[in-house]
Amino acid sequence: MTDKFARIRVVLVNTTHPGNIGGAARALKNMGLRSLYLVAPKQYPADRAVWRAANAVDVLDNAVVVDSLDQALAGCGLVLGTSARDRRIPWPLLNPRECGEKVWQEATHHDVAMVFGREDRGLTNEELQKCNYHVHIPANPEYSSLNLAAAVQVLCYEVRMASLADSEGQSPGPAQWDLPPARAEDVALYFEHLEQALVDIGFHDRENPRQTMTRLRRLYGRIRLDEMELSILRGVLTAIQNQSYRLARAKEALPPAKAE
Ligand code: SAH
Repeated sequence: MTDKFARIRVVLVNTTHPGNIGGAARALKNMGLRSLYLVAPKQYPADRAVWRAANAVDVLDNAVVVDSLDQALAGCGLVLGTSARDRRIPWPLLNPRECGEKVWQEATHHDVAMVFGREDRGLTNEELQKCNYHVHIPANPEYSSLNLAAAVQVLCYEVRMASLADSEGQSPGPAQWDLPPARAEDVALYFEHLEQALVDIGFHDRENPRQTMTRLRRLYGRIRLDEMELSILRGVLTAIQNQSYRLARAKEALPPAKAE
């Protein structure tokens, strides 16, 4: 049987306080998780992280430190981003219970990431748009921002509860699909390709982007493309680009229109 806990990674983005990194490591281990990714932590390694980790120093020792969120998400088929407040463009939203169930179900098939933001500013819109779902812990609306390690604890607890329900046979089991979902890194490349193709055909202007790419990201995130669908769409984009280059070349080859 696959070790589903090993497939669930907690990603902390740009953490300022090393104590929170230690607190998060402890939260993971208490709940049976162990895969911790640190994206450009401000101060790390640090003694305070070790103190707060207590007997979860092994989680810290094995933490993967990377420079960018894309690197932390490589290989993941499902990405969830946490947010303490509403954003301008609403995204498919899960509560912590739904998050725990989804993470546990999908870890049967592929790696899953739960992403947490900076203590002062959370995750940027760009980072949140890399996620299939957003997760909000429905705290007191007058003070809804939890301490980072406490937020990690809540979601890891829900994953544990889902795992326990599963072992008691209460889980409906994962939905079957014939192909694996597109991996986060391939989805990132797809969006670069899509944006370039939309520029090439004159649909999209990088200088005046409006919310086109955001809305397209949300659309595709909702659909959860599989590997094959993604590669078909890349082929379509390439064909569109080739056609538009051919048209542009044919236009250049025409003699200039005569002025009347
Ligand atoms: N002032 C920031 C709060 C950041 S709290 C903001 O408004 O976004 C630091 C991190 O803890 C968040 O990025 C998120 O990952 C997590 N977090 C805190 N409170 C949360 C909540 N109510 N729901 C989901 N995640 C939360």
